[in-house]
Amino acid sequence: MKTIGLIGGMTPESTILYYRILNELSSKQFGDSHSCKLILNSVDFEEIVKLQKLDRWDVLNGIMADAAISLEKAGANYILICANTMHLTIDAVRESVSIPVIHIAEATAKQIVHKKLSTVALLGTKYTMENSFFIDVLKSHGIETIIPNENDRQIIHDVIYDELSKGVLNPDSKQSYLKIIQKLIDTGAEGIILGCTEIPLLILQDDVNVPTFDTTTIHATEVFKLALNE
Ligand code: GLU
Repeated sequence: MKTIGLIGGMTPESTILYYRILNELSSKQFGDSHSCKLILNSVDFEEIVKLQKLDRWDVLNGIMADAAISLEKAGANYILICANTMHLTIDAVRESVSIPVIHIAEATAKQIVHKKLSTVALLGTKYTMENSFFIDVLKSHGIETIIPNENDRQIIHDVIYDELSKGVLNPDSKQSYLKIIQKLIDTGAEGIILGCTEIPLLILQDDVNVPTFDTTTIHATEVFKLALNE
């Protein structure tokens, strides 16, 4: 089993999920008290949010690349950026290291293809829904993406930054999300991508009557399989 490097802290709430999922996969795979060999480099989310708001992706590229370099030096064989949004920096991260950086949208696209769906809706931060880095990967796999309307995008975004990133699970926000999801299903979405690593804290498969794609679990599972097979 190879060692997995995590760039975490974006946010701590979802990094905990990555840690839990990887350890559960290890104990399921190897039994006994086995846990996952991983190295965590956790950034300061406040710094990240400030730079996102200032649109300083040049600085964010540097922070993420430095985090990846130190993971590689520490012995990681694979790298995960433990957030969808921060995949906006994946090119800079990939250029800075010689080990594979596993793309969250690639891993998600594979699962959607596996389920034979052709149109899905994407929920995430405004950065994820309004930029093309996630949608383009889906497109390259023949998958069409629907995003919520402007008002609904703002609601989803605000709940992520004001509540989920701080560990707040608000039943009213869950109802708002479910209403938005229903609108997207009515518009033709055959599946819903939970394209922010904290959304699976609020929305579960049982809440939705079409397949949901939990990007946190999908991403962690993808790297675990790779680390296992080499
Ligand atoms: N974890 C989130 C995501 O998956 C949002 C936090 C961030 O801005 O990185 O997009």
